[in-house]
Amino acid sequence: MDLFLNPEINFCTCGCEARLIKNPQNSPKSDKKRFDYWVECLDDSCKNKGHVENQSWKAILSWNGSLCSDFPEIIEIPFLSIVGLNQEEIENKVHELEKQLQSQANKSYKSGRPLPQKTYIELKAKLAWLGYLKNWLNYYFKNTEASPSEDDSEIHQKNKVSNELSSQQ
Ligand SMILES: [Zn+2]
Repeated sequence: MDLFLNPEINFCTCGCEARLIKNPQNSPKSDKKRFDYWVECLDDSCKNKGHVENQSWKAILSWNGSLCSDFPEIIEIPFLSIVGLNQEEIENKVHELEKQLQSQANKSYKSGRPLPQKTYIELKAKLAWLGYLKNWLNYYFKNTEASPSEDDSEIHQKNKVSNELSSQQ
């Protein structure tokens, strides 16, 4: 299946594999069956668990970008090539693309013409991928050639900010 809406799930920081959980929502109001999704560690004693989301890709990307995630050496973003770029170049690219996606969403919102469902999901998924990429960047460059001024609390804060952003979307 397509990586874009079926991202691979990162291992847990404890070294164990993590899995996606799908749980039916109890919503008597709607006939349409809806589900909650989250990622959790396979090791019961670990207790690491990601955010509960209403889309599987959202739950996976949120887990992958969280502090529960064992970040891989390299990540593949299905719609963005970051090979050979340094941190600043990637950050600029991410920033540009985010701006573009946000303005696309705002334009549709203001005009009162909602985007087609498929386009809307694509847009949301791209933003979620970029959120993951940003957290990965913080982690990756901190652990390789990062500036010594970046301490843990700053990383925590950045993670927190992008988690909040992604839960608003
Ligand atoms: Zn674990």
